[in-house]
Amino acid sequence: MASTFTSITLAETTPASADELAGRFPLTPNPHPADDDEYARIMRELRFGMDFTDHMVHAHWSAQTGWGQRETRAYGPLTLSPAATIFHYGQECFEGIKAYRHADGSIWTFRPGYNAARFAASARRLCLPELEPGDFEAALVDLVRADARWVPTGEGSSLYLRPFMIGTEPHLGVHPAAEVDFYCIASPSGPYFATGFDAVSIGLVRDYHRAGPGGTGAAKTGGNYAASLLPQQLAAEQGFSQVCFLDVTGTYLEELGGMNLFVVGADGSVRTPRVDTGTVLEGGTRHALIQLMKDEGIDVAECDIALTELVQGMASGEVRELFACGTAAVITPIGRLACEDFDVSVPTGELTRHLYDRLTGIQLGREDDPHGWMYKICD
Ligand SMILES: *Cc1c(COP(=O)(O)O)cnc(C)c1O
Repeated sequence: MASTFTSITLAETTPASADELAGRFPLTPNPHPADDDEYARIMRELRFGMDFTDHMVHAHWSAQTGWGQRETRAYGPLTLSPAATIFHYGQECFEGIKAYRHADGSIWTFRPGYNAARFAASARRLCLPELEPGDFEAALVDLVRADARWVPTGEGSSLYLRPFMIGTEPHLGVHPAAEVDFYCIASPSGPYFATGFDAVSIGLVRDYHRAGPGGTGAAKTGGNYAASLLPQQLAAEQGFSQVCFLDVTGTYLEELGGMNLFVVGADGSVRTPRVDTGTVLEGGTRHALIQLMKDEGIDVAECDIALTELVQGMASGEVRELFACGTAAVITPIGRLACEDFDVSVPTGELTRHLYDRLTGIQLGREDDPHGWMYKICD
């Protein structure tokens, strides 16, 4: 059988303007939006992913009729059959993308076409129906326009958007759901790590893997996260804030389970684990950083990175910086990597700091955007 999913090939397309896309998910305003006190409290003490806006977007799909009813409606609990496939077989995929408020008050997002393409690729792997990129982007536009007051200002804060799709057919037989629902919810959020740009310590995991060859590691799906929770918990008990996973042979670095990895050498070389193994999620942040470094004349090697060599390099000083990246936390310096048989540290480096400033500079509209990544949602 031909392998069609060793890794995701992202066919990123350029979205139509927000004005053209707006209205695909018609708004029925929430009759009970958050009152002034609650709104002020939430926006004053921004947390990550714990408070939600007044609305959500929804579309229903059935195998017979395809995508049907679309709407933007009050945020609130869902009513689902206890037999819905999502509860039993985990048929699900999701995305994470942010809306930023610029100094002039306008609201923007970052490369929605990339996330739209990845959402479609994840859906294919999970046997879920593809949502056309224009609909994915329109969902973001309609939700953010309805909830514009929830897009915060301030360093490290944004409106975190969480599109997701679930199998909802009530049927315990194992088969792709014939009824599917797409939602997008939004959460006004402060920095992902309470400690801000401080370096984190990472526990290296040998006994657990988040993904394997031919599995779902390249798709953004909840099951991969479920597999990562136990090793994450065990590492947390030993004082680590995140874990790093290896490939199934225990030789090469893969990723943190929610963030991709970069290794900077003392000679200025930069490497990141390859994603064509199908066991690593190809991050949009990773992709953008590779491009930004290329713009500055730094060639990033996407390759196998052996753990033994990394540990030796960190001990000898040949590895100068180590960092992780993803939409939620942007860039997180890794200060320490440890396991039973080694414990090595590196200081937070200049390139890590520079890339953080450059990428957030683009996202917040403070710096030039040579690749046209920013997408305007509204004034
Ligand atoms: C979402 C995710 C990332 C980071 O992807 P971004 O597009 O940069 O946010 C990395 N690894 C996994 C497993 C993920 O789910």
